[in-house]
Amino acid sequence: MEKMGKLAACAGYYDIKIQQYPIPEPLEDGIVIKVEAAAVCGGDKGFISDKTEHTPGNIGHEFAGRIISMGSRAKESIHCYGGNLEIGARIVVYPWVTCGKCDSCMTYGDGVCGVCDNGFFYGGVFRRNETTMNHNPCMYPYFKGGFGEYVHIYANTYVWRIPDDMPSKIAVLLDPTAVAVRAVEQTMTSMGGLNEGFSTTSTVLIVGTGAIGILTGMIFRYMGCEKLIMTDLVDKKLEMARQITGADIVLNVAGMTSQQRIERVMELTHGGANIVINCANHPASSIEALQMVRKLGTYVEIGNAMADDNAPTFEINISNIMFSRNAHITSVIANSPKTFDRAFRLLKKHAEIPFERIITHEFYSLGDLLPHLKMMGDADYIKSVLVFREEEDGNEKKDSSD
Ligand SMILES: [Zn+2]
Ligand SMILES: [Zn+2]
Repeated sequence: MEKMGKLAACAGYYDIKIQQYPIPEPLEDGIVIKVEAAAVCGGDKGFISDKTEHTPGNIGHEFAGRIISMGSRAKESIHCYGGNLEIGARIVVYPWVTCGKCDSCMTYGDGVCGVCDNGFFYGGVFRRNETTMNHNPCMYPYFKGGFGEYVHIYANTYVWRIPDDMPSKIAVLLDPTAVAVRAVEQTMTSMGGLNEGFSTTSTVLIVGTGAIGILTGMIFRYMGCEKLIMTDLVDKKLEMARQITGADIVLNVAGMTSQQRIERVMELTHGGANIVINCANHPASSIEALQMVRKLGTYVEIGNAMADDNAPTFEINISNIMFSRNAHITSVIANSPKTFDRAFRLLKKHAEIPFERIITHEFYSLGDLLPHLKMMGDADYIKSVLVFREEEDGNEKKDSSD
């Protein structure tokens, strides 16, 4: 009988179905991994809370696993950082596969996500995926997202070999860490020589203490910013953020008017933060946070960088709020394998930088995915990770390795 594996498919609004499919043979330029860990991301919550009709899709894009089978041309077709591809090796995966041929790929380089017109996103449930490798698990090779026991890795995917001393559950933090790294790197770009990019004398303000906010704070702290301030609306979240990042000031801004928040930050920063990173996912927070930047400072948007036709709109005085500061205003939506590689190098310092502490919840079966997606707003929640424990089928690795 064919060996089967389970996966989680997002079938509609808060509707996750656990389905079984045969463990696929890899395409000749692909590989199959047995998933060891997969992290839950705000993006997954976006997919399950989407009310538009779509075909079911295997979700999960932050995942790592062990190679169990390889196509004959996989070594040439898959880009592997940090070692060779071989059966038994553990890898973590860059979630985008780009086409390498469209105008964007030709201009910015293969692998640059967020701009390629024909990209495939592991664990993505949207129209573009349907026209590329199709996220629908009923089509071969079925396993196309991290929330499953297996994933088929396609040609032209970028992967990293996980060092023996790095647990898979740390490796799966690669994607959010890369977002944080890109945000930090954007502040190091000085436009025209006047703007204040990041330096050891910077006061950094991070709005929102979710996983990305905390990771960004950790990296700024590691790089030596002079003062780190973090704001949120929940004391418990702020306390966790302070403990993990070593923030100098954490500020609960609940119950304050927008004007009061801005004034409080102005006081604490003596006229605005050199660097403001907005990680809160409401456009009102962006408008407010823009007013907390010092003149010639740098503002990076993460929380509201994704295009959203249904987002609320506001009337603003654009000169007062944006341009009169002469600030460098940018956002993080595109990323590249090279940034991921720099993030992976940081993750390798997990003994020194407390990445593990952002994992507040761990679960061990696909059936617990939906409850963990629903927990995302909880006060004690930062990040949850599905960890597949070695169980009865522990000898399966041997069966398929030769
Ligand atoms: Zn993600
Ligand atoms: Zn492309």
